[in-house]
Amino acid sequence: MRNFLVLFLVLFLVGCGSFDDSVVTLIDESDNCVSSVSYPKTSESKLNRKIKRYVKSSVRDFNSNYCSDDVLRQELNIDFKSNLINERYLNVVLVKTIEDEVWVKTFIFDVLKHKELSIYDILTDNDLMILSDKVKRGLGYDNIEINDLGVQFDDEFLYVYVGDSSVSIPLEELDLRIKISKDLEVVKSYQYKSVSKVIDPNGKVIALTFDDGPSRYTRLIVDLLNEYGASATFFVLGNKVSIYSDTLKYVLDSGNEIGNHSYSHKWLTHVSEEELISQINQTQDVIFNTLGYTPRLVRPTYGSVNQTIKDNVNLDIVLWNVDTLDWKYRNSNKIFKNVLPKIDDGKIVLMHDTYEYTYNALKLLLPKLKDLGYQFVTVSELKEVNSIRNELNKNG
Ligand code: ZN
Repeated sequence: MRNFLVLFLVLFLVGCGSFDDSVVTLIDESDNCVSSVSYPKTSESKLNRKIKRYVKSSVRDFNSNYCSDDVLRQELNIDFKSNLINERYLNVVLVKTIEDEVWVKTFIFDVLKHKELSIYDILTDNDLMILSDKVKRGLGYDNIEINDLGVQFDDEFLYVYVGDSSVSIPLEELDLRIKISKDLEVVKSYQYKSVSKVIDPNGKVIALTFDDGPSRYTRLIVDLLNEYGASATFFVLGNKVSIYSDTLKYVLDSGNEIGNHSYSHKWLTHVSEEELISQINQTQDVIFNTLGYTPRLVRPTYGSVNQTIKDNVNLDIVLWNVDTLDWKYRNSNKIFKNVLPKIDDGKIVLMHDTYEYTYNALKLLLPKLKDLGYQFVTVSELKEVNSIRNELNKNG
C-alpha cells in the first residue's frame, strides 16, 4: 500500500520537473504486487494530463482490487505506442495488462488545434457504418457505444478497439474527415564507433549496470562516466529505444554496452512463452534497427529467472551481486554509504539510470572507487577479464 503512495508522489514530481523526459517509466514492487507503467510525455500538456489521469486511476484501481494480502502476487503493466500522423495528429495508445486481461485506451490529438479528437471528428457517417458492420460481424457485438471505441492508425489500417478485441479496416476503404497519408517511418542505419580500451586483468575491475532506462539522466550519467574513463552496461527497455535514439548512440559511442531488459518491463516469469519471446525479440529488433547494434546480454525484469527463460532466450542472463537499492533509499548519500562496503573486485552493481539521486550517488562513488584503484568495465569486458584470469590460473 505504502509503495503506491510513493509511486503517486513520483508521478507528480515528474510532472513538475523543470526538464522533460520523453517517456515516464514507473516500476514498483511490493509484497503482493508488481507494476510497471510506461507512458509518453508529449508536447501537448492537455493530452499529458489526460494520459496521467488514466494512468493514475488505473494504478489506483489495481492497488485496491488486486493487491490485497489474500491473493497471489499480481502484475500491472501499462505499455504505449505513440505516432505523429502527418505532423499533426498525435495518436497515443495505452495497453494495460493485468495478468491475462487486456484493456486498450487510445487518444487522437490535433496538435495544431491543441484538442483531442473524438471518433466523430475522424470518421464520416459512411465510415461509421463500415465500422459498425465490421465490429458486429468481426467481434459479434450487436450494440456498440461509438464513444467507447479506441482508434489507432498506422500507414495502412485503422484499428478499432472494443475492450480488448480489435478489428482492422484498410484505410483505402474509408473516407476519413482528417487527412492520413502514407508516412512510412524510415529506419536510419547507424554505425556506432567501437572504442578501444586497455584493461589490466590483474587490476581490480567492477561492472556498473543501469536498468529501466534510458531517461533524461542517462546522458548525464554517461558524461560522468566519461570524466572518469569508466564504462558501464545499460539494460534498456525496448519501448524507449527509438525515442531516446540519440542518447543511446552517445551511450555506445562512449564505449558502453547495451543489454536487453524486455520491451515494456513485463514480469517475464509470469507471461506466456509467446509473450516472453516477443518482449525479448521486439527489443533486440528495435535496438538493431535504431543503432545497428545487437545486444548479447539480457537482464530479466525483477531479477527473476526460470527454466522457460533459460530455454527460450538466446542471450547471456546477467543478474547482479551488489544491489545499491537506489529505488528504495532515494537519497544519494544513503545509496553511496550502502554500496561502498559491498564493492569488491569482479562485482556487478545494480543501479537505475532513471533517478536523479542515482546520478548524484554516482558523483560520490566514481572518484572514491577510482582512488581505490578500480577499473570500470562493461559486463562483457568483465566476462573477458574472468576468462583471462582463469587461463592464467590454469597455466600458472
Ligand atoms: Zn527493471
